[in-house]
Amino acid sequence: MSAEKIPYKIYLSENEIPKQWYNVRADMKNKPAPLLNPGTHEPLKAEELAPIFCEELIQQELDDTTAYIDIPEEIQEYYKTYRPSPTMRAYHLEKALGTPAKIYYKFEGNNTSGSHKLNSALAQAYYAKKQGLKGVTTETGAGQWGTALSMACAYFGLDCKVYMVKVSYEQKPFRREVMRTYGAEVTPSPSETTAVGRRILEAHPGTTGSLGCAISEAVEAATSREGYRYVLGSVLNQVLLHQSVIGLEAKAALDKYGIKPDIIIGCAGGGSNLGGLISPFMGEKLRGEADYRIIAVEPASCPSFTRGKFAYDFCDTGMICPLAKMYTLGSSFIPSPNHAGGLRFHGMSTILSQLYHDGLMEAVSVEQTAVFAAAEQFARTEGILPAPESAHAIRAAIDEALKCKETGEEKTILFGLTGTGYFDMVAYEKYHNGEMNDYIPSDEDLQKGFDGIPKFPGNEF
Ligand SMILES: *Cc1c(COP(=O)(O)O)cnc(C)c1O
Repeated sequence: MSAEKIPYKIYLSENEIPKQWYNVRADMKNKPAPLLNPGTHEPLKAEELAPIFCEELIQQELDDTTAYIDIPEEIQEYYKTYRPSPTMRAYHLEKALGTPAKIYYKFEGNNTSGSHKLNSALAQAYYAKKQGLKGVTTETGAGQWGTALSMACAYFGLDCKVYMVKVSYEQKPFRREVMRTYGAEVTPSPSETTAVGRRILEAHPGTTGSLGCAISEAVEAATSREGYRYVLGSVLNQVLLHQSVIGLEAKAALDKYGIKPDIIIGCAGGGSNLGGLISPFMGEKLRGEADYRIIAVEPASCPSFTRGKFAYDFCDTGMICPLAKMYTLGSSFIPSPNHAGGLRFHGMSTILSQLYHDGLMEAVSVEQTAVFAAAEQFARTEGILPAPESAHAIRAAIDEALKCKETGEEKTILFGLTGTGYFDMVAYEKYHNGEMNDYIPSDEDLQKGFDGIPKFPGNEF
């Protein structure tokens, strides 16, 4: 088949949608560190997590050994409404760049939520419903996760309470209304509706919020209500597990044409799309069957991998969540109101953190105006209007393709195009008007965040 011209869109058929998720932890020699109880610093047991999370999701969270986990049929049924997502060949972009590199991207923006997040939202809503719960609470940054969860809750008949980072709530009124259309209740965070929100507002009056704050509020909202649990759209092992559908489909599509990527690139906020995209490829790498260069791309304004510490830290600003061992900027780090709202989390998936620590993947940080330049070049050539988060991956993919132009190497690049940017036009407007800046935190700024990382024996960093 290799003589055949690779199509612009490599589609799989409906029955090629994965029927099992792949759990990359099963192939990791160094397992991601367990979540710790913040009081005792002992690994958390399932019983301790049960007041916060759904039972079956806790099992998935703690399962480091089962390589394949069945996707329940009810979830598969909804996946069929928007999956398989296309794996695209960026012929037009390649031509515009004049590069010998071959560029592919896996496009996850083909659903109303506009991103990959629906893949995990459906799974989490399904398990909550199966457990007989009334509803779920969550945080949302840019709004994609909240939208995805609202859709999933509408489908499975669950109540949905969303704490939306205040800066996004104000910048993206349309996102908010999409969530309400699907039946969710949306509260700007930090808010007066929770004790932790009131505490944060008192300490930081006028704060534009952060994902860490919103998480604290959502957890409190769930644990203080009967029949509610908290769900999270990224970072957790279970979320990377659900997102493995991205990588499994991308790999199946490329395998049809005998294509092996040399470089795999994804933007990294909490690490879920990147973790999902790379999982099956990383599995091969871990088992010694193939080698890939894997690159995480993060904003220079929130550089968890490239400038963070590898340490146990809180996932939330209110310090009520379990401790996770990850690359972190400190849970008190509140990034500048950077437009890539989905990449503003201070920490990173423990799975990706371990893989990065073990030298199995790389990370780069990119500045905002360069990201929007890439977004615009991509929109003008490939036609898709990318989410600012996704454009971080585009930036790095273009940079790698331009290196190939210099060296003449015909590398194959695969990147994750996680979503569309229709709700991000205020950011695009700032870019077009030359009002966007490239804020980079100083070492002193970062030190303040590091000072808040908990200190206890075994947590040296
Ligand atoms: C949320 C989001 C991201 C970042 O989250 P990850 O968990 O790191 O994948 C990236 N792109 C889009 C479009 C998003 O909505």
